[in-house]
Amino acid sequence: MTTAIQPAVPSLTLNNDITLPQIGFGTWQIKDDDDAADAVRSALDIGYRLIDTAMIYGNEAGVGAAVRYHEVPRDEIFVTTKLWNDSHDYDAALKAFDASLNRLGLEYLDMYLIHWPVPSQDKFRQAWRALERLYEEKRVRAIGVCNFKPHHLESLLQTANIVPAINQIELHPHLQQHATREFCAKYGIQVESYSPLMRASRLLAADLQNIADKHGKTPAQITLRWHIQNGLLPIPKSANDGRQRENLNIFDFALDDDDMAAINVMDQERIIVGDPDSPDFG
Ligand code: NDP
Repeated sequence: MTTAIQPAVPSLTLNNDITLPQIGFGTWQIKDDDDAADAVRSALDIGYRLIDTAMIYGNEAGVGAAVRYHEVPRDEIFVTTKLWNDSHDYDAALKAFDASLNRLGLEYLDMYLIHWPVPSQDKFRQAWRALERLYEEKRVRAIGVCNFKPHHLESLLQTANIVPAINQIELHPHLQQHATREFCAKYGIQVESYSPLMRASRLLAADLQNIADKHGKTPAQITLRWHIQNGLLPIPKSANDGRQRENLNIFDFALDDDDMAAINVMDQERIIVGDPDSPDFG
């Protein structure tokens, strides 16, 4: 086992009082179960303790195997998976949860998220009732959503008994999501940033490189540090153990006000993955 990164990762507390690390490890597009198991094993070796997968990623079995067989105890690892768009009916959502848990080979989940709101189906409130039941039965420690804009959250909250603990959304310097962040802050919903590195598409830009040079860090580390200092929870993905290590090695320096301001003005409202209201996502 390789040495874990020091200093330790800070924790966040969710609206149901459970704690989790402020950075996690994403696994989208690590499709093969063996590759996913290798990537998650190495991430755990390095010091990641939050692992993000989804039914649709096709790697739950590999992710679960790495979690089960790693020497880090199960209760020190925070495992998230997600309900896919074809299972928003109440019974279908309960079945999908069981199927995910079986593939992962785990007895409980730490976080279960509705993957997309799919407004054209208009069934996410039903799906949410199923997640509430799973939470009440203590089969999952916290429940939340992904890709919910304020108007989806407003609609969900009209019938919800439990306020989502997390909203996982695309968020990075080029898509800063101020409206959703403000809404979530008002309701105590933690924002988790997916594609936090802009899927590596803009890391070579001079504006980030200048800040990186100032701190002796890389543009990826500067970007992740910006998430952390904004109270966000980034979940960078890397299939490469050197880059996994680089992405976790961000707790020994801080961006100053000028650096934060320079990144804050990079917002272009640029969506890379997809607009949750687009028919492509439902
Ligand atoms: P990221 O922003 O994490 O970028 C991943 C890409 O950046 C990969 O190509 C990776 O390549 C590269 N990369 C990683 N670290 C570095 C580095 N230090 N320097 C240069 N390049 C780097 O994008 P993702 O879209 O993967 O988002 C992260 C996670 O968020 C996903 O894996 C998934 O778990 C979750 N997600 C959730 C969604 C949702 O709808 N809820 C949608 C999309 C993502 P390499 O692997 O070769 O290092």
